[in-house]
Amino acid sequence: MIPNIFQFLDKSPSAFHATANACKILQDAGYQQLDEASHWQLKPGKGYFVTRNQSSVIAFQYHGKTTGGFRLVTGHTDSPAPKLKLAGASFSNGSVRVPVQLYGGDIHTSWLDRPLGVAGRIAFLDAKNQPKTALVNINRPVAIIPNLAIHLNHGANNGLALNPQSQMAALFGGKSIEDLIAEFAKAAKQKITTILDAELFLYDIQPATIVGLDNSLISSPRLDNLTSCHAAICGLLNAKPRGVTPVIFLADNEEIGSRTPQGAMSTYLHTVMDRITLAAKGTQEDTYRAMAASSMLSIDSAHAIHPNYPEKHDSAYAPKMNQGIVVKHNADFKYATTSESATRFRALCKKHDIKLQDFVNRSDMPCGSTIGPTCAAELGVPGLDIGSALWAMHSCREIGGLKDHEDLIKAAQIFLSE
Ligand code: ZN
Repeated sequence: MIPNIFQFLDKSPSAFHATANACKILQDAGYQQLDEASHWQLKPGKGYFVTRNQSSVIAFQYHGKTTGGFRLVTGHTDSPAPKLKLAGASFSNGSVRVPVQLYGGDIHTSWLDRPLGVAGRIAFLDAKNQPKTALVNINRPVAIIPNLAIHLNHGANNGLALNPQSQMAALFGGKSIEDLIAEFAKAAKQKITTILDAELFLYDIQPATIVGLDNSLISSPRLDNLTSCHAAICGLLNAKPRGVTPVIFLADNEEIGSRTPQGAMSTYLHTVMDRITLAAKGTQEDTYRAMAASSMLSIDSAHAIHPNYPEKHDSAYAPKMNQGIVVKHNADFKYATTSESATRFRALCKKHDIKLQDFVNRSDMPCGSTIGPTCAAELGVPGLDIGSALWAMHSCREIGGLKDHEDLIKAAQIFLSE
C-alpha cells in the first residue's frame, strides 16, 4: 500500500496536519491508536500508533517478543515557516497586517510575492466558555508578503536582507482584524467567542507539481521532511519483519533543535520502545537485549549538487538528483552514519537493487544535522543517516527527484523488515 505523495504534501501544510494525515493513513490500514496515559494491551500481528502534541507520531507493528531487536526509521514533521504574531495584528495603511516570527532556518526571500494560506492550531473558548483546540487550514490565498518595488529599493538586486520583525509581516487585505478572526473561526468549523492562543503558520498554497522535460522532478513546499515521513509510513505499512519489531518515529521540532516532549531530544521514543517490550511480558534484561539488537535509519533531505553553484560541493561527494539515495557522513557526527552502519545498509541496498550516493560536506563549510545522532545517542543504538537529494532546501518551495522518492520508500521497507 503506497499512499499518494502529492496528496500527502498538499494536505500537510503544518506539522499538525502532517501528523493528522499520518494517523489517518495508519488508521485506514488497520493500525490502532494508543493513549500514553492508558494501559497498553497489544495483540501480536497488529499495528499501533501513539501521538504527542498532535504534531508527532510513533507507529509500530507488534509481533510479541522484542529480543530480535527494533528496526527504527525516523523523519520529522516540521518545516521552516513564518508563524503569525496575532497580538500584533493591525489594520495598517489599507490592509490587515500580521507580523511574524520565523520558525526554523528559512530562506526569507522565498516567501515574497507568493499567494499564502494559513495552517496550524488555535486554542479558543467555545460557546459554553470551555477551552478547546482545533486544527485550522485556510487553504486559499488569504495573505501575501509583497516585495518592495525596485523603484523604491534600487539596491534590491545586490542581495536582499529582510528584517523579519518589520519587513516580513503578512498582508491580508480586508477591512478589519475581525475579518481575520472570522476567517479562522470559519476554517476551524467552530463557534468561537475568543481566540486564546494560536500556532498558525503561513504556507504556499500552490500544490506539489511535476517539473522537467522528462517529468522527473517534483517542486513542492515541505519536501524536507515530509518525503521522509511518507517513505517511513509506506515502509512500515509494507514491511514484512523477520524476527524484528519495525517502528517509525515522525518527530516534531527538528528544525529548532528537537528539545521538546514531541521532539527527538526527549524520552518519547525510548519510552514507547520500553513499553512495547513490557507489553510482551519482557523483563528489564529483555529491554536491554532488544536495544542492543536494534538499529536505526534516520531519513532527512540531502543537498543535490546545484548546476549553478557546483563549487558548493566537494566533487567527490556530490549527489545528483534521481541518481540514488544519499548516505550522509560527517567526521563530527552531525550525522549518525558509521562505516559499519553504512556498510550494512550498502549490502542491503545491493541485495534489493537500490542505488546509493555519498555526501560529505565541503571541509571549509559548516555541516547541517538531523535527528539521527540525537536518537542514536538517546537510545544507544547504531544509526545511519540517509535522504533524497534536494535543491533549494528550506526555501518556501523545494525541488526533489521522483525516482529518489521511490527508492526511499523501498529502502525504508526493507530496513524495517530485516
Ligand atoms: Zn530536514
